[in-house]
Amino acid sequence: MGTQTRTFQRKLLQSAVKINDKGLYWYIEASSKGNSVHRPGCYPKPFIPVVSVGPNEKASYNYISFLVWFFNTVNTDKAWTFEPALTTAELLDQNKLPWYDWLEDIWIDAICTECGAIERVPFSMVEDCDEWACLTCLEQTK
Ligand SMILES: [Zn+2]
Repeated sequence: MGTQTRTFQRKLLQSAVKINDKGLYWYIEASSKGNSVHRPGCYPKPFIPVVSVGPNEKASYNYISFLVWFFNTVNTDKAWTFEPALTTAELLDQNKLPWYDWLEDIWIDAICTECGAIERVPFSMVEDCDEWACLTCLEQTK
């Protein structure tokens, strides 16, 4: 069990809806076995995926629940458990945490293995790639 109860989350969601707060996000709270350590779940490390609560609270909960299921499925050693938790953009920024909207791709630097050029590309394009070739090097091999 994470550090936030469903009652706490429901009250926070109700107050956020009342004040039309658009900065409320779901993230995944990872809790160690024995519940001694709590931290945000990361994917890919060190990035923290979040889902905006607005404009549809129920849909956003379904999206984060899917991601929680994914974390629990991939984490086969069961040293950690994962639960949806609420946070704000302000809190994430104050703690200088690298976070991103999980429903959008994140951009990372990919280094060309031919010439060393650095390109900014979506993570989903390079995930599990052993090598990356920049556009210039790709054109030269045609
Ligand atoms: Zn290149």
